[in-house]
Amino acid sequence: MIDFKGLEVWFVTGSQHLYGEAVLKKVAEHSQEMAQGMVKSGKLPLKVLFKPVVTTPDAITELCRDANKARNCVGIITWMHTFSPAKMWIAGLNALRKPFVHLHTQYHRDLPWSEIDMDFMNLNQSAHGDREFGFIGSRMRLNRKVIVGFWQDEDVLLSLATWMRAACAWHDAQGARIARFGDNMRDVAVTEGDKVEAQIQLGYSVNGYGVGDLVKSVSVVVDSEIDRLVAEYDDSYTVAKSLRSDGCQRGSLREAARIELGLRTFLENGGFKAFTTTFEDLCGLAQLPGLAVQRLMLEGYGFGAEGDWKTAALVRAMKVMGSGLDGGTSFMEDYTYDLNKENPKVLGAHMLEVCASIAGSKPSLEIHPLSIGGKDAPARLVFTVPSGPAVNATLLDMGNRFRMVVNEVDVIQPEKPLSKLPVASAVWIPRPNLKVAAAGWILAGGAHHTGFSQSVTIGMLEDFAEIAGLEFLVIGEETNLSEFKKELRWNDLYYHLSKGLLS
Ligand code: MN
Repeated sequence: MIDFKGLEVWFVTGSQHLYGEAVLKKVAEHSQEMAQGMVKSGKLPLKVLFKPVVTTPDAITELCRDANKARNCVGIITWMHTFSPAKMWIAGLNALRKPFVHLHTQYHRDLPWSEIDMDFMNLNQSAHGDREFGFIGSRMRLNRKVIVGFWQDEDVLLSLATWMRAACAWHDAQGARIARFGDNMRDVAVTEGDKVEAQIQLGYSVNGYGVGDLVKSVSVVVDSEIDRLVAEYDDSYTVAKSLRSDGCQRGSLREAARIELGLRTFLENGGFKAFTTTFEDLCGLAQLPGLAVQRLMLEGYGFGAEGDWKTAALVRAMKVMGSGLDGGTSFMEDYTYDLNKENPKVLGAHMLEVCASIAGSKPSLEIHPLSIGGKDAPARLVFTVPSGPAVNATLLDMGNRFRMVVNEVDVIQPEKPLSKLPVASAVWIPRPNLKVAAAGWILAGGAHHTGFSQSVTIGMLEDFAEIAGLEFLVIGEETNLSEFKKELRWNDLYYHLSKGLLS
């Protein structure tokens, strides 16, 4: 359900009429070649569409308005080949509602030392033209990414690709619908938040639905569909004996399939991209949806347990960012620790709802009782996660702003097989280490729920936060707790004052 096909970014080159038609023709030729070259590099996830060079305030404004209207345009790349007096950009940038990245590059990589003349200087002015453009962005306090370097260089293209993925997640969130079955887990604080503010700032709407509505959708599922789906389970997973076609708990698996089918229909009919459940509100459902959630997340749905709509939306955004890359993305929770002195680590899991996209090998389909919720034993996929770098991200409502905290972690293998653990899990060591990472996370108010990913990078999340106007905090290899505490205090001050600063 996540597909970048059809999505595009526009390559917009600014100039002016001072240099004559011949120079402008060259500027257009070069820009076109660059846009095409970037596409041909194969390093970008989206099409780059060349747009005619803009040279007047009216043309700039019209282009920005066109970008706003274009459904497939997720953002624009701006670049000043020559000098483009930036007052010409004010009206356009004021109107622009799409993210933009400032690519500070030059058509030529090398300076032609022995050949250089004034014509070359006139044509290749981005070194100062882009500074003029940069000033107006800063003067207008506009959020944007600045990428510096030769446009064919791998690191520049990677940085652009990273931004494109963030822009796609932003594009995806605009007008997105999130279904909340039941409300919040009673008395839990961090999963609460201002849904109106989220819709104003982040673009998605969160609305509650009675579990009865879901039950209705589940109850009309026909047996033939269940037959088909359990056959798919049989093919896809290592199925526990009691759940096999001749097993004593096959009926529970069929019930899980019924829930999956009903839930999927509900989500598809409502055009939802993410959803939440809560084990405290399951009236009419035989089991807490476990397998269903694991499989729907695999298809691209965002999910948050216990009514956690912020994490549901974040998981969805991360699934968009990481689309097509190696490694999966899941809802996750820091569950329990190994506090041995040498190498303290985290065991991450949830009651059931860990996405099968992060499984290291074929999941095993099992059934075990759930110790909370008072419902029938639910079916679930059990697996562990492959070793390698990953991120954990959280989104918090701090009362006057949304804050994103991200921790770099390294997934490792369990020291011994987790043969009695009835849920999917991941073991990781947070960077720089558990002591600093957990202290920083807790001081920042980071939630126990996260979006966990082995495909999404810190860079993508940072670009997303920039576009979305989120406070962004990283806990990683370089984190020093004293400095981090200061950053928290300074940010409190900044966000308190910034409303005045920005207007
Ligand atoms: Mn939880």
